[in-house]
Amino acid sequence: AKKNGKGQAVFCSGKMKNDVLEKVTLTNSLYQALEKNELMLHYQPQVSAATREIIGFEALLRWEHQKLGTIPPAVFIPIAEETGLINSIGEWVLMTACAQNKEWQDKGFKPVLMAVNLSLEQFRSENLEAIVKKCLMETGLDPRYLELEITESIAMKESEDVAACLHRLKTIGVTISIDDFGTEFSSLGRLKDLPVDRLKIDMEFIHGISQNLKDESIIVVMIHLAKMLGLQIIAEGVETEIQLGFLKDEACDAIQGYYYYKPLSKNEIEGDIYKTSPA
Ligand code: C2E
Ligand code: CA
Ligand code: CA
Ligand code: CA
Repeated sequence: AKKNGKGQAVFCSGKMKNDVLEKVTLTNSLYQALEKNELMLHYQPQVSAATREIIGFEALLRWEHQKLGTIPPAVFIPIAEETGLINSIGEWVLMTACAQNKEWQDKGFKPVLMAVNLSLEQFRSENLEAIVKKCLMETGLDPRYLELEITESIAMKESEDVAACLHRLKTIGVTISIDDFGTEFSSLGRLKDLPVDRLKIDMEFIHGISQNLKDESIIVVMIHLAKMLGLQIIAEGVETEIQLGFLKDEACDAIQGYYYYKPLSKNEIEGDIYKTSPA
């Protein structure tokens, strides 16, 4: 037990109690969220640094809770991971994102990538490959327009299983990107052994542009690393003209961030983006 200011042992502060209660409540309603259609995807456009053209989207989960309102993924994804619910939620995300991408292509819009985030739990479930195949089959999406995003911490796990699974996924024809790149930076040697197509520079570095020379140096090194390894590189969390200018000067391939677009609903994308620019 912790001691409070007066030296008495307390088992649970008011705040902790609320946190625990909140977590129990959320866990219970997360079980029903899928059935109640409370989960949805938003899509954040990814833009070519050179041409501003949209080259892809990242699918991002949103939970509209009936009573609690919008609950951010940073709050409910960890719960979904702990409870194993991430496997069914993750499958729904894959299916929905593939279906959406196919729908936009069928409407005549230029084919672009749809990036989907994966959790470590989904690699442990052992049928990830079958699920990805099923989603592609059922929606008819060409595999090259699906990108699977794994965080650097998953990629760098010294697990043969993750590497083997990525190789099997790669043979399906999907592309693979490493998210939050630079936050672990543990093993460049491992990068060479993984079937990776793209690196995503973590926004923590991007927000250091014009503030912190070390962040800038790390970004420059990451961009060079990607080029030398023949990988694409995208910066996330780009919010300002200055950040954009720096990344363009350093020849970063692609940009994702509020400077261009926030994550948008399907309707917003169809109203604001695709309305004006069908292929
Ligand atoms: P992430 O994969 O690193 O996603 C990028 C996050 O940065 C998103 O937050 C996005 O809305 C936000 N972002 C994008 N541009 C900017 C910007 O210019 N400035 C700032 N400050 N933020 C920006 P979001 O949507 O809240 O998602 C948070 C995290 O939740 C994601 O981080 C990802 O780890 C997780 N997540 C979201 N959807 C899924 C999913 O379907 N499956 C899994 N496993 N995780 C997901
Ligand atoms: Ca991501
Ligand atoms: Ca990220
Ligand atoms: Ca992140």
